[in-house]
Amino acid sequence: MYRSSCESLRPRLRKIIARAGSLGADAPDLPRILMYHGVDDRGGRLSVTPREFEAHLDILVAGNIDVVGVSELHARFMKGDAAHAVALSFDDGFREMYDIVAPLLLSRNMGATFYVITDRLNGGIPNDSRRYMDADEVKRVHEIGFEIGGHTHTHPVLSRIDSERAADEIGICRRRLEKLLGQAPTSFAYPRGDYSLDHIEMVRSAGFANAVTVRPGSLMGNIPRFQLLRTEIAGGDDATTFRLKLAGGIDSWHRVVSAFGDIRRVVARRTP
Ligand SMILES: [Zn+2]
Repeated sequence: MYRSSCESLRPRLRKIIARAGSLGADAPDLPRILMYHGVDDRGGRLSVTPREFEAHLDILVAGNIDVVGVSELHARFMKGDAAHAVALSFDDGFREMYDIVAPLLLSRNMGATFYVITDRLNGGIPNDSRRYMDADEVKRVHEIGFEIGGHTHTHPVLSRIDSERAADEIGICRRRLEKLLGQAPTSFAYPRGDYSLDHIEMVRSAGFANAVTVRPGSLMGNIPRFQLLRTEIAGGDDATTFRLKLAGGIDSWHRVVSAFGDIRRVVARRTP
């Protein structure tokens, strides 16, 4: 019931906020980390089509915006050298990262960070119809210059497992990637954006240097390096919506959705 009333509000709220955003914001509000999941024709919020994705890249090219990975963007931001840059981030390491996304980015000289789940490195797991990059593909993507980040070993919601297992999920992921790539990963993404102060400490002590959340916003302001904000790019985002998101015009809408998500998570934790 709660969920369905939120869903029915979404299109209306989105329209209102998009209209408000378009009044004052059409210049990019950077630096900003864009968050993608799938790039395919599955439909839904978590998949943009290859055609939509190419339209987004065309806009970045036309705006002469530097497109890099998350750790590079953060390093440049700390040096005050990221004013006209975005980072692209892709969660879960789906197979099309290798087949479609990396080639499209490579041909435009763009960087990105792919957050991978280490128990999917054999290409997938039983009962999951999605295909994932296998170890060789992840290695190849890294060798050609893309950043590989950690996204835990099995993709649990960290707040739903005990501390010992959460620390293992983070540590195993980092060690397996280090072994595979010959270089330890520096960036981490919390599965489903769920984390607590304890999890931040686990990520830090595992050796990661930064972490991304699903909380909305740009990198401006005093953002802690283990809680970097991102801007979700969703299925159906046309050129106008994409420009608006680059301009920060949908940050307020994303904050509303994120707040609903937080409330839902707190309620779920308290429900026995
Ligand atoms: Zn994920």
